[in-house]
Amino acid sequence: MVELNCKFLSSSIYDSLKEKTQKFVDKGNRAPGLAVVTVGDDDASHLYVKTKTEKAAYVGFVSFQYFLNGDSREEDVISLIETLNKDDKVDGILLQLPLPPHLNEKEIIEHIALSKDVDGFSSYNMGRMLKGEECFIPCTPKGILTILNHFGISTIGKKVTVIGRSDIVGKPMAVLLMNKGYDATVTVANSKTKDLKSLTLSSDIVISAVGKPMFLDSSYFSDGTVIIDVGINRISDSTRKRGWRTVGDVDINSLKDRDVSCTPVPGGVGLMTVASLMENTFISRERRG
Ligand code: NAP
Repeated sequence: MVELNCKFLSSSIYDSLKEKTQKFVDKGNRAPGLAVVTVGDDDASHLYVKTKTEKAAYVGFVSFQYFLNGDSREEDVISLIETLNKDDKVDGILLQLPLPPHLNEKEIIEHIALSKDVDGFSSYNMGRMLKGEECFIPCTPKGILTILNHFGISTIGKKVTVIGRSDIVGKPMAVLLMNKGYDATVTVANSKTKDLKSLTLSSDIVISAVGKPMFLDSSYFSDGTVIIDVGINRISDSTRKRGWRTVGDVDINSLKDRDVSCTPVPGGVGLMTVASLMENTFISRERRG
């Protein structure tokens, strides 16, 4: 198995962004600003936010962090977003998901200004992406396209199975791959799909965004398949001090002796999602002039 490790790739994206930001600021421009909004006390969300603000600082962005109580009302979150929409120092607004269950995620996302929707989740941005117009490419699919490009994996004329149809990964991924330029023949699987194995076995590329640990083992893949593992799953592990570890959807150990390529978890798509967020924030700053 060839491991498509993304540590070097993501580091090189940060270094290049850092250089671009420095040049941009040296010309007298304001540094890009990223606002990160967290609602509630979810441990994993706080960890993701910490990583994002650290990376933003590394590349020279200014970040603004907002923590709202878990019992905040929808109006409170929307009111903060509308304030950030009007704030000229903010180029990107990141609403850390998931929100507490009493809040309507989809409704709140629609309030993020199109020009600052660096996650690319709003309906308007998604619509533009569907039509191949200028938009923000959602960060995880964008990161996956960067991985494929970096490792020289062409999608033209290839059979790709995307497993999962979420608004943030599966759907945008499928749309992007079927657009002109990527030219893949895409199948999207969901929990009702019959005989998933026959789809994956006949695919050149399999992208799994299911969220079930070790969901796919070696028997799901033919020789030569490129596997992109999006899943981030915590499983208990008594050998670790914290009592758990992170694994993907793919049982990567079962692939060790196989002629396939696979992104690791951690060290794969997750790294690229954050790097793509920084790229989108820089693009936003440039577009906003
Ligand atoms: P999600 O909303 O959690 O939905 C999971 C998808 O998997 C659904 O579409 C579901 O089908 C499908 N599914 C479930 N069981 C299946 C089965 N047996 N066969 C085929 N499809 C099945 O999806 P998500 O938000 O995209 O998250 C998926 C995973 O990716 C999670 O582990 C998440 O933590 C991870 N993630 C990682 C990153 C990253 O940066 N690496 C970013 C985002 C998400 P139905 O629609 O029929 O229910």
